[in-house]
Amino acid sequence: MTAAASRHRRGRAYALLLAGLLVPAAFGFLLVRGETARLRQAAEAESLRLVSAGAQAATHGLRQTLDAVTLLHSLTASLALSHTEAGAPERRVIEGMLTEVARRERFGILQVALIGTDGRLAWSTTPGFTPVDLSDREHFRAQLEGARGVFVSAPLIGRASGRWSLNISSAIREADGSFAGVSVVSVDPILLSASLGELQFAAGVTVNLLREDGVILARSRETDQRLGALRGGPDLLRIRGQPVGQMITIGPLSGREIFLAWRQLAGWPLAVTFAVDAEAAMQDSARHAKDLHVLLLLGLCALAVGGMLLVELRARLAARAAMEAAEASRAETSRLLNALPGAAYRGHLSTGGEVTRLHLSPAIARITGWPVERFAAAGSYGAIIEAEFRPERRGFFLQVREAGHGSMEYRIHGAEGPIWVRDDCRVVSTLEDGRVEVVGLITDITAERQLKAQALSAARLATLGEMAAGVAHELNQPCAAITLAADLAALELGRGDAAHLASAGRRLDEIARQALRMRSVIDHFRLFARVDPGGETAVDWAEAVAGALSIAGGTMAASDVRIETDLPPGLPPVRGSLVGLEQVLVNLLINARDAMEEVPGEERLVRISAAVKPDGAAVVLRLRDHGMGLPRAALERSFEPFFTTKPVGKGTGLGLSIAHGTITGFGGTITLRNHPEGGAVAEIHLPLARAPAGILPG
Ligand code: ADP
Repeated sequence: MTAAASRHRRGRAYALLLAGLLVPAAFGFLLVRGETARLRQAAEAESLRLVSAGAQAATHGLRQTLDAVTLLHSLTASLALSHTEAGAPERRVIEGMLTEVARRERFGILQVALIGTDGRLAWSTTPGFTPVDLSDREHFRAQLEGARGVFVSAPLIGRASGRWSLNISSAIREADGSFAGVSVVSVDPILLSASLGELQFAAGVTVNLLREDGVILARSRETDQRLGALRGGPDLLRIRGQPVGQMITIGPLSGREIFLAWRQLAGWPLAVTFAVDAEAAMQDSARHAKDLHVLLLLGLCALAVGGMLLVELRARLAARAAMEAAEASRAETSRLLNALPGAAYRGHLSTGGEVTRLHLSPAIARITGWPVERFAAAGSYGAIIEAEFRPERRGFFLQVREAGHGSMEYRIHGAEGPIWVRDDCRVVSTLEDGRVEVVGLITDITAERQLKAQALSAARLATLGEMAAGVAHELNQPCAAITLAADLAALELGRGDAAHLASAGRRLDEIARQALRMRSVIDHFRLFARVDPGGETAVDWAEAVAGALSIAGGTMAASDVRIETDLPPGLPPVRGSLVGLEQVLVNLLINARDAMEEVPGEERLVRISAAVKPDGAAVVLRLRDHGMGLPRAALERSFEPFFTTKPVGKGTGLGLSIAHGTITGFGGTITLRNHPEGGAVAEIHLPLARAPAGILPG
């Protein structure tokens, strides 16, 4: 597995892990949210219960003071209505009781006073009071104007007492209902506030005593600075008309969310509110929710870390498995390479055609017979290549660079004699520095070449046999001419005169010429039948065509095949051997002849043409017939050894395969295709022959 693949796998595993974590995360968050909401609800219910209990407790505390105020009012009324002279004993008893209450400030009561019908202070528990005019005071005016029941003033500084007071006034009426003055009990709002403050059992608690119009009379968290100026705000007005209740609202003074409970003081224009700051009240539940979130996060972290460990572990295991697999496949590959019928090599090929070997499989020892150690050093293989093939091998590598692959046959010095090998080489990648990486296989083809040589001679013999008729035809004519000339010469020699002798001499010359012609035909056959040594020389196509025609011309003529040649004069020689190329041409001619067996005699035409390729590096020779064309099967397989469509005894299936071997052996190509206008075209490309040694550039 490559590093990129393993990175990819790991990335995928992390993505999966993330996706896998999202599910418990979402689930956990939902759970925590539900739990938090439940906790909050419970805390809210609890807080509301608490504030309503608080409000109730506050009313209990205030009740005492208010009951005392009611009692004091009735005492003051009785004082006013007794119509007794000042200093009368029963009057003194009441005045003494009232003064005592005020002096001790019991229940926060600061003063008890009586205002006369004219609005002047008629009597007060404050010692040495003066009959100040109180007719403008709210608590007096309200009663004068016939307020129902008691009236409680906003906190104010008492004119008689000089202290912060809540003046609670009550009208005094005669038995006939006529207005007889106002009884006023002043209560200390600061003391009241302090007593409300005692109910502040926790941070964020505020207890208010409100007048029904929303004016705050006492407040657990106030000192005297703001007294008289505080109003409960519109929200508190909402509670009027509802004797008890609770709600979650925004505190009018703090602007913060509060849990609020209220309770009206029965019979009084007053109410108590008990509020607790929501944030403070919910602190516990918020803390709890936070704890839950932290717990959830911790859980997720643990999961993530666990998952990551798992992914890493898996990645490591996978990497190890991949390494083991790679090791196994390396072992398998080298086992396979060693088992190959040849020695594999790998190397870098420079632009100049030099190979730097990176690997050479030990099978080279099996092929060459030399110990494997002999090939340890760089260049050690090149050293056993026979000298005559070395320059060619460089050309071969240049060709591999260019074409991407190539194949070359050459001889090497084996431990027990020369060995023919085939070197198949292929480019596998291009390096950054312009070099290419190549892999190749060196195979021992000595046996194959022997077989091929045998097959070649067998095919050649078959061809010769085929051409027996042609040979006979070829020799027939000079033979007849010789016979005729000999007969005539014999006659002329018999006459004995000078003219006949001279004519006989010419006849003998003709005989000698015909014999020479026969000799040349026979020589060619002998040459053709000889095993081709395979050495590469420079060959003129014109010469090879003439040679092939001298061999096959007879058989072609016997089959009424006309031959046209178009070989421009001055064609450059190509790489090859004369006999090799003649054999190729003879095979092509015989195939053409066979293909035209079925066509009418006048259409049996073979045209041989040649031209230099536009790039000037090779010569193309075309041989076109007007026969039936290649059968479908032959289109792909005609060059396979033993592939034939001809009847048994006629075709060997070797002609084209040998021709292919011969042409590629000289670095050329041969193809066979159908001509669009009928018949087949064989095309041979052969590189130009090398310039003689010494004038090569470089
Ligand atoms: P052989 O001639 O002994 O069959 P070859 O290798 O020379 O063997 O040819 C193989 C086959 O290719 C032939 O049997 C034939 O089918 C086909 N072939 C070769 N040359 C021609 C041609 N000029 N026209 C048609 N078919 C051809």
